[in-house]
Amino acid sequence: MSEREPLRPLSTSQREALEEATAAYQGQLTADVARYLLGRGIEKQEADTYRLGVVSDPYPGHSKYRGMLAIPYLDKHGQALSIRFRCLEEHKCRDFWHGKYNTIEGEQARCFNIGAIFRAGDELHVTEGEFDAVILNKIGLPAVAFPGSDNFKSRHRRMLAGFSRIWVWGDPDDAGAKFTNKISRALRQAKGLRLRDGDVTDTYMAGGEQALLDILREGKPNQ
Ligand SMILES: [Zn+2]
Repeated sequence: MSEREPLRPLSTSQREALEEATAAYQGQLTADVARYLLGRGIEKQEADTYRLGVVSDPYPGHSKYRGMLAIPYLDKHGQALSIRFRCLEEHKCRDFWHGKYNTIEGEQARCFNIGAIFRAGDELHVTEGEFDAVILNKIGLPAVAFPGSDNFKSRHRRMLAGFSRIWVWGDPDDAGAKFTNKISRALRQAKGLRLRDGDVTDTYMAGGEQALLDILREGKPNQ
């Protein structure tokens, strides 16, 4: 997919189908998956807000995502624009012809939690993982996610251009460094933060809100 490809708007029927599937999968969230989410700092309130669900009874075209966690990409009104599916099995996903994270075929690169762009003040936070963005929002830091540097496109640069500061929470690995570099090159107000002990979620689970606020403070030495 080209960096410059503009976003094609969804048709009304596509929107309706996504909305229906999202609502149905929300209703199929199991106690097991709720516990899994809780282990990542995501409580019922966040699961409801972000409309997380499980594909127990797949919609047409979704049968290969059966049993997976459904992570909808919502617009600023909470309506689904897309859904990503995360496998929850402890197996090698490639052996089962799917990825750990799966996107519907032909789906375009999107930004997770675009509502944060409208709610944020001068500063916005950017993560690689959807759940990392959920955690930052939970502690009062408005955040969006781009699932990997390939999903950050030039139209996203325009979308974020108005912020005076963009904090980038790349994972502490090579992919995370690539992610931080790509966004920092695209947006001069972007600044990478230095996570050390895992991603945002790992850091939150180990040290709570304070551990994340400490990392943010390190990024602001003069404030
Ligand atoms: Zn799998």
